[in-house]
Amino acid sequence: MSAIESMYIGGQWRPAASGTTREILDPADATVLAVVSEGGVEDTDAAVEAARRAFDSGTWPNTPTAERAALLRRTADLLQRDREEIALIESRDTGKTLEEGRVDVDDVTAAFRYFADLVTNASGGRVVDAGSPDVHSVVVHEPVGVCALITPWNYPLLQASWKIAPALAAGNTFVVKPSEITPLSTVHLVRLLAEAGLPEGVANLVTGAGDPVGARMSSHPAVDLVSFTGGLASGTKVAAAAAPTVKKVALELGGKNPNVVFADACATEERFDTAVDQALNAAFIHSGQVCSAGGRLILEESVHDRFVTELVRRARRIRLGRGTEPGVECGPLASQQQLDKTEDYVASALAEGAVVRCGGKRPEPSEVRPATGYFYEPTVLDHCRRDMRVVREETFGPILTVETFRTEDEAVALANDTEYGLAGAVFSADTARARRVAARLRHGTVWINDFHPYLPQAEWGGFGTSGVGRELGPSGLDEYRETKHVYENLRPAPVRWFAG
Ligand code: NAD
Repeated sequence: MSAIESMYIGGQWRPAASGTTREILDPADATVLAVVSEGGVEDTDAAVEAARRAFDSGTWPNTPTAERAALLRRTADLLQRDREEIALIESRDTGKTLEEGRVDVDDVTAAFRYFADLVTNASGGRVVDAGSPDVHSVVVHEPVGVCALITPWNYPLLQASWKIAPALAAGNTFVVKPSEITPLSTVHLVRLLAEAGLPEGVANLVTGAGDPVGARMSSHPAVDLVSFTGGLASGTKVAAAAAPTVKKVALELGGKNPNVVFADACATEERFDTAVDQALNAAFIHSGQVCSAGGRLILEESVHDRFVTELVRRARRIRLGRGTEPGVECGPLASQQQLDKTEDYVASALAEGAVVRCGGKRPEPSEVRPATGYFYEPTVLDHCRRDMRVVREETFGPILTVETFRTEDEAVALANDTEYGLAGAVFSADTARARRVAARLRHGTVWINDFHPYLPQAEWGGFGTSGVGRELGPSGLDEYRETKHVYENLRPAPVRWFAG
């Protein structure tokens, strides 16, 4: 299989300087899906220099906001034109179902349109009352400069777009590096940006490994900002690499997200059905490979037996298989490494006293589940404690742990007992209680009687080790803008601070 064009530098598609390539595997059967260029330091430097030149030329930063917004809208239209093609690329590359791939394309389209509208409506500056008629003081926003955008493999198109759309809206140039496991939808997105008419050098794409490509992007002196989405271990390396040149750093890291269910959320059949359904969705969508996955179920003790019995019954029925097969509800894990990690977490949980209620193993192969695919059964681990490794660490697999509580205070204490703070949910029929608990949760997003929805208009990001900064919403645009105060003295005169 010959390599596809996967690296875009200074408006040209080109192979890696070293000529090296990498095979991209289909996680459903471990066959080769595509071959891409494997970039290195030389390619990264070329991409950063191209982005630097494009920024310093002033073309894109000085393009009127309305024109920048129009480019984002054209990109949104092109994403919709290619919706099926991109959904298929994403499904085959990540393992997620085709339907999830379509949802991702729609969400990404909405994000491009949102930032187009936001930047169009943004004011030209904020006039400040300086307390004197002789002073004109105004605060304006400008692009940061060259942005290094580094993304993970679970939502490749979505994570790239949450960075690219605001970066472009604000007038920056960028180098994007998708995960080496799932680069294909980002390659397609950059093609669409070129088709939409983005000037040369504004968008640059380097495919390759975290080290050296991501590491070089994070330390490169000509980069002004690094926005990173990925794991905690890599995120801390990025922050350290960016520190000597004092880049702006935004980090969207992992989560260990609690789902607190009170007994009154199960008081009627309808409520019970909803709470169980949502708990299942929270933990197992995309086989749990979601930064906000509700992998930690915190149940009021009195409903434990009934709730877990029904949850397990439904988890056993989840149809696992190749994401492109009709009727499949969950795809494989993204890589052999993820599969090994999942097996390791289940083994450690068992050693620490957890009880497997369902799953805990790889499924039997079938027509839709090749033996070579990275499949793992949805797993419910009962009788978990907060000190267990599987409860403390982000598993990023189809593992749901169950803990119980008796009082509201105990529920809140458990839900907040994590170094992370990305997302969490509370299910209760008592609105006052649900809102009270939501207010006490130390997480960047809190859902009440729901799990997983997010809006492009609302900020996304984490407390604690889940990250620094926010994506989406007005703050998601601000990440990519410098703030400048222009103080104009309308009646210049000596200040006479010094007598001389
Ligand atoms: P990862 O940290 O292994 O990789 C993420 C990206 O960083 C990849 O492109 C990788 O090549 C690159 N990278 C690796 N080492 C690097 C280094 N030293 N310097 C610069 N770049 C480097 O993460 P992953 O396994 O791809 O993704 C899963 C993680 O992403 C999970 O922890 C998940 O919670 C997190 N995530 C967070 C969010 C969020 O919004 N907070 C969203 C999606 C995923």
